[in-house]
Amino acid sequence: MSENISVLGLGLMGTALAESLLAAGHQVTVWNRTPAKAEPLLARGAKQAATPEEAVAASPLVIVCLLDYQSVTSTLAGAPLSGRVVANLTTGRPAEARELAAWVAERGGEYLDGGIMAVPQMIARPGALILYSGSEPAFDRHEGALSAMAEARFTGADPGMAPLLDLAMLTGMYGQIAGLLEAAALVRSAGYPLTEFVSSLLVPWLNAMAAQQPLWAEKMASGDHSTEVSNLEINRAGVENLVRAFREQGVKPDLLLPLKAVIDQRTARGLGHEGLSGLIEEL
Ligand code: NDP
Repeated sequence: MSENISVLGLGLMGTALAESLLAAGHQVTVWNRTPAKAEPLLARGAKQAATPEEAVAASPLVIVCLLDYQSVTSTLAGAPLSGRVVANLTTGRPAEARELAAWVAERGGEYLDGGIMAVPQMIARPGALILYSGSEPAFDRHEGALSAMAEARFTGADPGMAPLLDLAMLTGMYGQIAGLLEAAALVRSAGYPLTEFVSSLLVPWLNAMAAQQPLWAEKMASGDHSTEVSNLEINRAGVENLVRAFREQGVKPDLLLPLKAVIDQRTARGLGHEGLSGLIEEL
């Protein structure tokens, strides 16, 4: 069903979002601080609003994708939010999302926060995911339209939940990147071809390890950190060995050292018999 939807913010991401909504047959009104960026969308049937107020007045669903939360409040400051659903897909922190949800509610609007797990090229393609939190009734009413941009998943009534999960997923990614960088530096120091190492050795290994993570999650959720596989004491010796090997190869183990510090701290408490999942209790 075609809906009236406004999109505020036509950067790389906002443009991709607006394009996907137009392609799905919605009536899209756009606004951007620099108006010229709307031109390609106007050629595809979007309407241009002269002000944020006009854009908000045009549609019950208002999608906002700007630089940061400060630019969102300054843009929406004079807009008539009563009866509107503000779906803010700007990246931010949980506390900012909760604050903005209250700000929108004070002005009579409903709030959804969204964490975009995709780059602009992925929007409206398989694999793109947007996490939402905040008003469940608003999500239910607009789920069809939101799904035109990416798989839409509601994660809870706390508006901070979607940004928190977004940050958690980025945390997992940065951990993986840290491992890749250290492993690549070690391999490069020995002159082994890096592309060969990454594609034929590291990636299959990481995929096999990733398949174990739901079991780790069960351990962490239950607080039962017993293990029959490899306990912390073995891992402490293993990471110490790694760090020595790095130094012998002339490579800095700087991205591994924080992990080593947490393992050392946990084993120093006499918990070396536990599995690695127990490290969560130190964080
Ligand atoms: P861009 O830099 O391409 O666009 C930024 C947008 O914010 C532009 O529309 C810009 O307007 C607008 N803007 C900046 N400052 C202000 C302000 N003070 N008042 C009003 N408008 C302002 O960024 P993206 O589109 O890539 O990113 C937008 C959001 O999407 C960010 O929060 C980003 O983290 C998130 N995101 C982006 C991803 C990506 O891969 N690009 C992935 C996941 C999330 P103007 O055109 O006038 O400069």
